[in-house]
Amino acid sequence: MNETTIYELSEVMPIYWTDGINTVPLFTTEAEETNQATSQTGNISLPKRKLIEIVRIIRNTAVSKDVKKLHKNICQVCNTPLFLADGLYSEVHHLQPLGADHQGPDIPSNMIVVCPNHHALFDAGAIAITPETLKIISYNGTEIGSLSQANNHVVHEKFIKYHFENRFKKIFQKGPGDL
Ligand SMILES: [Zn+2]
Repeated sequence: MNETTIYELSEVMPIYWTDGINTVPLFTTEAEETNQATSQTGNISLPKRKLIEIVRIIRNTAVSKDVKKLHKNICQVCNTPLFLADGLYSEVHHLQPLGADHQGPDIPSNMIVVCPNHHALFDAGAIAITPETLKIISYNGTEIGSLSQANNHVVHEKFIKYHFENRFKKIFQKGPGDL
């Protein structure tokens, strides 16, 4: 019989989440925990569950709208369009976060256009743009692509370096095995 390992979200996600503006804790709601370590469904034991609430604040300024338009709402990492009923959906990631800890500016040269998946990975510092080559690398050193460019949108090297040094390398300096 095959065994399946089930990971709780809390085991693989950071304790804190940031959208580049605010850093918020990932809450666990203790009241949702049952008194029993496991619950029973027939003869099957279910793993203990925790309800985790993730709060993300998505800023939608005129500046970020303009930058999204330059990229036609296509992710600069995977170039995959995300179709909604009323058009394409994309997000803007600030390489130097805007929050109090980082004081990044809300300007186009500090922004990249990304899909929600790659936004989450940039926020978590799990991927980064290599300053010298503009290749996208993963925390384990794997190259996953190049940053797509658009006319009239230049990402400043200092913000690429900021994310690389302060978000990517800082979080993963111990190596993925120590996460
Ligand atoms: Zn993407």
